[in-house]
Amino acid sequence: MKTDDVKKLYDDYVLGTYSHLPVCLVRGKGSYVWDIEGKKYLDFFPGWAVSGLGHCPPAVTAAVKHQANKMLHISNNFLNCKQAQLAQKIAEHSFSSKTFFCNSGAEAIEAAIKFGRRYGNQYGKYEIITMQKSFHGRTLAAVTATGQVKYHDGFDPLPEGFKYVEFNVLESLQAAITPQTAVILLEPVQGEGGVHVATKEYLQAVRKICDEQNILLVFDEVQTGMGRTGEMFAFKHFDVEPDLMTLAKSLGGGVPIGALVVNNKVENCLVPGTHASTFGGNPLVTAAGLAVFKTIEKERLLENARVMGAYLREKLKALQAKHAFMTDIRGLGLMCAVQCAGDAAEVVKKAMEKGLLINCTQGSVLRVMPALNVTKKLIDTAMEILDQSMEGIV
Ligand SMILES: *Cc1c(COP(=O)(O)O)cnc(C)c1O
Repeated sequence: MKTDDVKKLYDDYVLGTYSHLPVCLVRGKGSYVWDIEGKKYLDFFPGWAVSGLGHCPPAVTAAVKHQANKMLHISNNFLNCKQAQLAQKIAEHSFSSKTFFCNSGAEAIEAAIKFGRRYGNQYGKYEIITMQKSFHGRTLAAVTATGQVKYHDGFDPLPEGFKYVEFNVLESLQAAITPQTAVILLEPVQGEGGVHVATKEYLQAVRKICDEQNILLVFDEVQTGMGRTGEMFAFKHFDVEPDLMTLAKSLGGGVPIGALVVNNKVENCLVPGTHASTFGGNPLVTAAGLAVFKTIEKERLLENARVMGAYLREKLKALQAKHAFMTDIRGLGLMCAVQCAGDAAEVVKKAMEKGLLINCTQGSVLRVMPALNVTKKLIDTAMEILDQSMEGIV
């Protein structure tokens, strides 16, 4: 098969919900991927932030192979040692918590909304406050939680009880809170919305409000979690613990897994039968999740994310001095972005032609989020290509 053959099959049989780059990727190793014609690319946005350890990380691939030979799936009515161990690992690295497993970020958000409502309903509360420019996924409740009208278009009527406030602006939040407010949901670093980092003062003030008014604080760490920002979970940068935390994306190192992590406040209102997922946390995906944690610990990838993140931003700033089109560099750890003065899609296209994969979000923001085990050498290579791709763009 050639790229054009695959494209033809897509045109005939795959629903057109995505715009596609004309590239069919068939193989990956570390920070590199190859297309069906054998062209090699340096991947600085691996798998939409799913492949946080790069492509086919050896420990994850080995764990998946091993588990696939033993037991792929069992129902959640039986005990599954991998699921139990992964929940323990998450608790060791987050807060005193218990975990519910599902299969995606949107499902983790869906669970957070359901559990938040269930907790709130005990006190006559039901409202969910989320942030403008947020992104929480595409199921009906998750897309409603997403504070961007473009994602709501054509799906009316949306579930009730959602409100949107300005991110990082305390007054905006305060004005929206009522005695019915059950949940405040936010990303500590907004991802799809353009990589906007919350301030410490803001998150600490939000925590205080939640404590005083019996509101649950939910951090969506689907994109920021698992070391992306240089801490295992982004909340650690702010000295603020949420009551609930959603995970997905790189939790499985490439296999589909989602998780909702809750503290003991919420735990008690969840009894058997209140929520479920058939595939959630099955042996295959939780074995992968355990291997992801082990790899991050063993290879000291949090430290690498901090050091390489600082290096990457320094290099991006040096490029910014050269290209007026780059107006701002934002980020935390290896979650980095370049604000551009205009449409940045052309830069992504040019970079791809030259063998570098990066992402454009919100039209004018370039997301540069390499694997946590990236090296200075790879960053240098990427920056050279980005430099060339910026040439002539105004
Ligand atoms: C990607 C993302 C989601 C949705 O995850 P899916 O697995 O696509 O459902 C939710 N929240 C954040 C912050 C994300 O980045």
